[in-house]
Amino acid sequence: MEIIHLSFECYPVAKAGGLGDVVGALPKYQTKAGHYAKVVMPMHRTKFLNTHEWDVDFKGRANIGNWWFDYTVIKERNNTLGFDLFLIDINGLLDREQIYGFADDTQRYIGFQVSFINWLDHWEHKPDVIHCHDYHVGLVPFMLKYCYQYSRLGDIPTVLTIHNAQYQGWMGWDQSFMLPTYDTWKGGLLEWSGDINPLASAVKNAWKVNTVSWSYMEELRYNSNGLEALFEYERGKCSGVLNGIDTDVWDPATDKFIDVNYDATTVDKNKQKNKEALCKEFNLDPQKPLIVFIGRLVGEKAADLLPDAIASAMYSMQGYVNFLVLGSGDPHIEWQLKQMTQTFKGSYNAMIGYNEALSHKMYAGADFLLMPSRVEPCGLNQMYAMKYGTVPMVRSTGGLIDTVTDMGEWQGWGIRFMQASVGDIMHAISRAVGLYYDDKKTLARMRKHMMEIDNSWEKSVQQYLNIYLSLK
Ligand code: ADP
Repeated sequence: MEIIHLSFECYPVAKAGGLGDVVGALPKYQTKAGHYAKVVMPMHRTKFLNTHEWDVDFKGRANIGNWWFDYTVIKERNNTLGFDLFLIDINGLLDREQIYGFADDTQRYIGFQVSFINWLDHWEHKPDVIHCHDYHVGLVPFMLKYCYQYSRLGDIPTVLTIHNAQYQGWMGWDQSFMLPTYDTWKGGLLEWSGDINPLASAVKNAWKVNTVSWSYMEELRYNSNGLEALFEYERGKCSGVLNGIDTDVWDPATDKFIDVNYDATTVDKNKQKNKEALCKEFNLDPQKPLIVFIGRLVGEKAADLLPDAIASAMYSMQGYVNFLVLGSGDPHIEWQLKQMTQTFKGSYNAMIGYNEALSHKMYAGADFLLMPSRVEPCGLNQMYAMKYGTVPMVRSTGGLIDTVTDMGEWQGWGIRFMQASVGDIMHAISRAVGLYYDDKKTLARMRKHMMEIDNSWEKSVQQYLNIYLSLK
């Protein structure tokens, strides 16, 4: 099958979170399984662009309302990522290093989508499926079906994967002039609650929709930032496919970022060595349990609870536990977490920013990974943690329910809690600390067990293939 993945992120070209990881891995594993998967994304000006070789594949001209612009499609020459990678450039819109966060993001998303469809219209053949990731490319299924100019392409099947339904790309109707001329009788298929809603439009118009775990799909029917009724109505074409992890990048046996490689047979000895290196770098005590948090410092991840939860743990258990935080996001949370490094020197530290290499060292060196998320569509951190023998401490929500079992259950390997609250986090911390000091045998059993769990992409690739085949 020829599959086109449309996305704003793809690791290692440009990544802001899990979306990048998934789009960097899924096409590679689909190619390995004998399919022809391609990724098409904007030409963000990241390091990857300058360090790889490119050929110009196509040059075209398209418009957003009255503004006509030239766009260029380039292709990576050496197939470095294991699949064909195409980047679309529009001068003045997509030529930036940062992926999101601009006042003209709506134009950027539409410019990219319009250029892609315009380019596709010049192809001599049609792909088997266009796989759209998140709302940034959510207007494509509608445009293919209902924009007069592209009516030839209306029979190409589309799939939408929702990595996060909190963000929907709302735009007012006064901005509808930016879309290519469309059948206005179908305007309702762009709309939700009075606005143009690209995510809702994608749910309505894509042939099949999936989220990145089953439990999150269920959750969306009663908690999806306003789209609950839509998910209830469209449930017939919706499903859940759990993300995998890319073991070429995330495997402690081969990871180039970590100090000492290890597998399930050497985890106890070598994890401690990684922990010692990490603790040395951050002035922590390697004899105490090390709990880490890695992620965006935003409400969705319940990062606002971290300062209070860590401070409470420090006061009640100081001398018995270490914390290390890596993340960036809300400036107030960043500030609080940074301030606390002075108060709890020697037991707590924080690195504010985005640091891929350090994240690997933390998965390898930590004993526990804390994820109190309020919303977690799938969550990759806990799966990386498991692969590195680091016990996940997670709130029971979304993909965390589907991937982590509590140590109180038969053969369980994680610590689960119900509420995103300081109280529940404290309780989880005390269970973790108790496990570390008082039940080393169970901890060793859990580590070995979770490292052997197969969360690889092969399973999910087959499930996506089944979705594509159901479109025929
Ligand atoms: P989301 O996509 O909602 O941010 P996921 O759990 O799906 O959450 O994916 C998060 C990914 O981003 C993981 O690969 C995680 O290691 C990485 N990550 C998040 N914040 C940072 C950071 N500050 N530095 C390095 N990696 C980070």
